[in-house]
Amino acid sequence: MRLLIVGGVAGGASAAARARRLSEDANIVLFERGPDVSFANCGLPYHIGEIIPDRNKLLVTTPEMLRQRFQLDVRTRTSVESIDRGRHVVRIRDLSTGLETEEKYDKLLLAPGAAPIRPPLPGVDLPGVFTLRNLPDVDRIKEIVDRGAKHVVVVGAGFIGLELVENLVHRGVQTTLVELNEQVLPPLDKEMTAPILEALKSKGVDVRLRDSAESFELCPEGLRVRLKSGEALTAQMVILGVGVRPENKLAVDAGLEIGPRGGIRVNDYLQTSDPDIYAVGDAVEIRDFVTGDPAQVPLAGPANRQGRIAADNIFGRESRYRGTQGTAILGLFGKTAALTGQSEKSLKRSNHPFRKIYIHPAHHAGYYPGAEGMTIKLLFHPDTGRILGAQAVGGAGVDKRIDIIAVAIQAGMTVYDLEEMELSYAPQFGSAKDPVNMVGFVAAGLLRGDHPQIDLEEALAVAGTGTGTLVDVRTPTEYASGHIPGAVNVPVDDLRARLGDLPQSGELLVYCQVGQRGYLATRILMQNGFHVRNIGGGYRTFLLWRGTDGL
Ligand code: FAD
Repeated sequence: MRLLIVGGVAGGASAAARARRLSEDANIVLFERGPDVSFANCGLPYHIGEIIPDRNKLLVTTPEMLRQRFQLDVRTRTSVESIDRGRHVVRIRDLSTGLETEEKYDKLLLAPGAAPIRPPLPGVDLPGVFTLRNLPDVDRIKEIVDRGAKHVVVVGAGFIGLELVENLVHRGVQTTLVELNEQVLPPLDKEMTAPILEALKSKGVDVRLRDSAESFELCPEGLRVRLKSGEALTAQMVILGVGVRPENKLAVDAGLEIGPRGGIRVNDYLQTSDPDIYAVGDAVEIRDFVTGDPAQVPLAGPANRQGRIAADNIFGRESRYRGTQGTAILGLFGKTAALTGQSEKSLKRSNHPFRKIYIHPAHHAGYYPGAEGMTIKLLFHPDTGRILGAQAVGGAGVDKRIDIIAVAIQAGMTVYDLEEMELSYAPQFGSAKDPVNMVGFVAAGLLRGDHPQIDLEEALAVAGTGTGTLVDVRTPTEYASGHIPGAVNVPVDDLRARLGDLPQSGELLVYCQVGQRGYLATRILMQNGFHVRNIGGGYRTFLLWRGTDGL
């Protein structure tokens, strides 16, 4: 078996190592256009910030190591230029000499990744306008920071853009973040990004939402960046983090099937439309695990797993890829934001029915010192309770909860299963009712009808029409320090005595700080014959919405 692999980083290197473990006899050649194989893309921003000062730490392995330990024929600075499917050969170019030769294959694996998008804007190719994909990019960016760049403009507030911002701020660089969207971290729902926006602002980052870079020109200070809003910023460097595009040229030229967004089409075995050619990683179109719809999700975990699975199939072990959930996480200035599965906006876009709930627990028992707050949003099917997605934002413990829910999604679990999950507990790690159990209780209560809930947006709309009354069941002190406009205050502890003060007609829309007292109030009022719903997540959810101008 002669296996040729195009791309020597996440997907390609994983496939090569797995292939060797499965076959000592195979002839495996790994082609990589760049100078490095298997480097840590995900660590790149942290070398700029000098959190990872030693550049060598980013080299997970070296060509020498792959040659010696895995007996791989590793060719760096070698680009695969075209595929001749009929003759089973690829044409390769040695980038140091310019020499072109042909290599024969029995099976070919494409793992060429995705290239950062460079929008065709005037001046986008000027020196000083960068994208970040590999170590040579990092070297160029870091050199400018090391030379004492005063101001940098980062365009795009996705994961990579935000990681760059954090590292630039860490290096003392004044940073402006420009984002076309009305929120940072576009994969998350807007209200869930409020704490991230707040963290950026508290660190002095100049955040420009609903704006975009229109052109770049040289000026005495470095670069002048003209924004759509009409403003002009001067900076020593611009870094574009506006998304990636699958590197599909080889596949397109070879006539392989391509999805509408440019991803190479593969089946569950990661086989392209040519059975002798497999493809993995950022370059492929995958199936969304939750909806089954085609999707493109450029993440390291899926690329690595796909590499292993493709190698299994190439060497005769049937192995299916289950699809991608899009489980992702960001750390920013001590805050954490993470998600798995579908978001509310993606479910709306694809017209999938859902319900949602919010909770605002502490990451471990509140009485144990150091408890940090978080918000979890859970999306689930309105009839079956199947979990469709989750997002969490806060500090410590966010990663753990999203990972547990990610596993629950993989296992096809429902909100009723979350109620029953038995998780490790001691006060410094969690709570006897873990936040994961809590989202289960709240969601299952809603579906069973024990705990009627209304989404904040709908509650405000109902109150606005005059058919509902907002009732704040917190203490008068809490109410005085801020409440939803138009709400009346009847503390939960006085509620039974003050039932007569409440309107008998129309609906009562109850809320407290996080939803818990509102739940009790809802139960009291229901049993006294009122038409009542609890506003999911309470006043904290209102603050999240207000924090992103969502209301
Ligand atoms: P890549 O790892 O990009 O490898 C593809 C390789 O193929 C490239 O090196 C390219 O030079 C080579 N190549 C392309 N065409 C050819 C050709 N014709 N001939 C020869 N070689 C070719 N994901 C996460 O899950 N978490 C993170 O925290 C995270 N952080 C990231 C931070 C940064 C700055 C970047 C850039 C990415 C990050 N990612 C993260 C995404 C993750 O790195 C990618 O999803 C993953 O590397 C994709 O693997 P891949 O093998 O498909 O492509």
